[in-house]
Amino acid sequence: MRSDPFRQICPGHLVRYDGDMPFRHAVGGTNDLLGAECENCRKPLLLYMMIDASDSRLGLHDSPAELIPLLYCPRCALQWHEFSYRVISNGTIEQLEFLVGHTDAASFYKEVNSDVFIRRSVRLEPTTPRFDAIQLRAMEGEITLAEATEYAAVLRQPPPDLPGGYPPMQLASQVGGRPYLMQGSAQSWCSWHQGTREAGALDLIHRGGARPHASKHTKMGVLAVLTDNDHPEVRLGASSAQVVFYLCRQCYCISARYMVD
Ligand SMILES: [Zn+2]
Ligand SMILES: [Zn+2]
Repeated sequence: MRSDPFRQICPGHLVRYDGDMPFRHAVGGTNDLLGAECENCRKPLLLYMMIDASDSRLGLHDSPAELIPLLYCPRCALQWHEFSYRVISNGTIEQLEFLVGHTDAASFYKEVNSDVFIRRSVRLEPTTPRFDAIQLRAMEGEITLAEATEYAAVLRQPPPDLPGGYPPMQLASQVGGRPYLMQGSAQSWCSWHQGTREAGALDLIHRGGARPHASKHTKMGVLAVLTDNDHPEVRLGASSAQVVFYLCRQCYCISARYMVD
């Protein structure tokens, strides 16, 4: 049997705009959280999504906050390195690791004339085993055009143009599961646990402090991946781009990574 190194946070769910919305999941919105200002830009980090931890399908009942914020800054150097923060409580986060550098927001402001993405409520629709299987095959580079077409239909998107094109299929926004990631990296390691990371030539701020885990390494899984082809409110600055938010279930540390082709 093939070993499965992928750490799944919760079953996969597509992010949908239609239908009943019994939870407070939302894409975009105003970031008024404490500790959530970008230290390079001196402006609030962009709020990409709020995940309602009371949705029992996600198994996040031990979250320190009722709403888990997915934050990132597309305006500065922060995006060129993994960015980590910890969810402390309702309304408060602590930034753990970010790359210090200049702000270069011209291209961002050309696309989004605001520091806030428009908020829209969303519902989470469970993915099917067939959908999950196609994603796994895509991650392994084995997807066929028929499968990519079937996948696009679930996403209510046009079929892919080219057989063998890249990315091999439409990118989708998703919570949990085993999403298709352009750069393949389906896991990360909790940076809160790791303590001081080798910064090399990077001007990297790392706030360590007491380590909450005893284990040497703690694997993080994908809590959510967002793209802008299915969510026009959220702009990622490229036609094929993803922001991936990894979660450590032990300490509610979130690590964000920007992927572009
Ligand atoms: Zn910034
Ligand atoms: Zn952790």
